[in-house]
Amino acid sequence: MASDNKSVLILGGGLAGLTAAKRLADRGFQVKVLEKRDIYGGKVSSWKDEEGDWIESGTHCFFGAYGVLYDLMKEIGTYHAVSWKEHQLTYTLSGGERFTFGTWDMPSPLHLLPAIVRNGYFTIAEMAAFSRSLIPLALQKNLYPPTQDHLTFAEWAEEKKFGKRLMEKMFRPMALALKFIPPEEISAKIILDVTETFYRVPDSSCMGFLKGAPQEYLHQPLIQASALKGAQFRSRTTVDELLFDGREIKGVLLRNGEILTADYYLSALPVHNLVNVLPVSLKTKDLFFAGLENLEGVPVISVQIWYDRQIASDDNVLFSPDGVIPVYANLARTTPEYRTLRGEPFTDGSRFEFCVAPARELIGLSKEEIVRQVDLSMRNCYPETSQGANILKSTVVKIPRSVYAPIPNMERFRPTQRTPVRNFFISGGFSQQLYYDSMGGAVMSANLAVKGILRAEGMPE
Ligand SMILES: Cc1cc2nc3c(=O)[nH]c(=O)nc-3n(C[C@H](O)[C@H](O)[C@H](O)COP(=O)(O)OP(=O)(O)OC[C@H]3O[C@@H](n4cnc5c(N)ncnc54)[C@H](O)[C@@H]3O)c2cc1C
Repeated sequence: MASDNKSVLILGGGLAGLTAAKRLADRGFQVKVLEKRDIYGGKVSSWKDEEGDWIESGTHCFFGAYGVLYDLMKEIGTYHAVSWKEHQLTYTLSGGERFTFGTWDMPSPLHLLPAIVRNGYFTIAEMAAFSRSLIPLALQKNLYPPTQDHLTFAEWAEEKKFGKRLMEKMFRPMALALKFIPPEEISAKIILDVTETFYRVPDSSCMGFLKGAPQEYLHQPLIQASALKGAQFRSRTTVDELLFDGREIKGVLLRNGEILTADYYLSALPVHNLVNVLPVSLKTKDLFFAGLENLEGVPVISVQIWYDRQIASDDNVLFSPDGVIPVYANLARTTPEYRTLRGEPFTDGSRFEFCVAPARELIGLSKEEIVRQVDLSMRNCYPETSQGANILKSTVVKIPRSVYAPIPNMERFRPTQRTPVRNFFISGGFSQQLYYDSMGGAVMSANLAVKGILRAEGMPE
């Protein structure tokens, strides 16, 4: 327990903020979470629309690698809601073609053999060239990706000469699915880190979906567990500025003019919001804070479309290199509690959720035009089963600044959770931890920030 009930103000009620709230409340701190929206969850938030259907900020896949997230879900009793899918990656191409990278239940790296020899699309020569390019990764393991952060993945691939088809058909949608930016922009370090983890840890690339809404299986249970320990949650509460006296944070100024104070301040804001609330004196005082201005959020769009017939029977995540839908899923298959249309059971049709990226050019378009382009991309992948299919409903969620853009040379600007200011800590997917901006990253960053506060209090971790 915190010795004399020290207080912590948490700025932002996304997954990082809610995780930190639970961890700190568990340790006896007086916790208050300030969230600007009327719902919690940030980039993984979900809400019911006026017709009674769940809408999400975007499709969220649960990678096997996110052990810290599953520990948390076990603590709040919701791990049972992760529905693990068959361990494979399926790519759908225009014209109805498709290929699958499967795995075998064998020790690493043998588990990847079927992906190399039996994917049904790339030739053995192509896969051999690709495997050759990974020799430094196999030899140096996790020490290799950081040495390639100065290159984009496209530049790295060009150096390695592993072939255009692999880049276009496999890695382009993978880069877009991971961070919503193409191989010409994403740092080689990101793709190499992910590849190294998938190669070394057999279950890390296995993917799951929640059986329903993140609101019901992540955010609400986290809030309830923390509230039982006395944590307070204030939604519709925007933080405008951190008040800094040249040495410490002295309070936060809210949009309504109120000033709140605490012993510790923990930012769980997206990086662009953090930059906005930091006082100029801090941003100019220290390179640690000045560097944050280099991290920028990537635009992304999430589109749901309900169709009046079964188009894709896959109960798994799907990738597509063609069109504007690099990653998507038929929620009517993957997510049992989403089998609804206008709040009524929906069993005969498809309910797709598409991640639309790169979104820079598309985000300004009308909802109708975005849905038209997504629908066209989908129909190209399913020319037969989509014939005559009618759209019953569609929704579009635009996020102009989502995860931070991991372009080359950005690693050095990712802040540690502990800052040069004694009573100020930072969490969030963009801060330094293994998993980049992801659910696993948000939870890990919160764990590290909480450790920092415990250490500052001289409490055991
Ligand atoms: C479309 C999409 C798909 C994704 N898919 C996946 C996936 O498949 N797997 C995966 O692991 N990750 C995925 N992610 C990434 C994942 O959602 C994020 O990395 C994670 O949710 C980040 O959590 P966070 O708490 O760090 O930040 P956020 O979720 O951004 O939370 C920050 C919170 O701060 C609040 N806030 C902002 N400004 C203020 C202010 N001034 N005052 C008070 N509150 C404020 C915001 O409203 C928000 O609630 C996806 C993201 C998107 C957008």
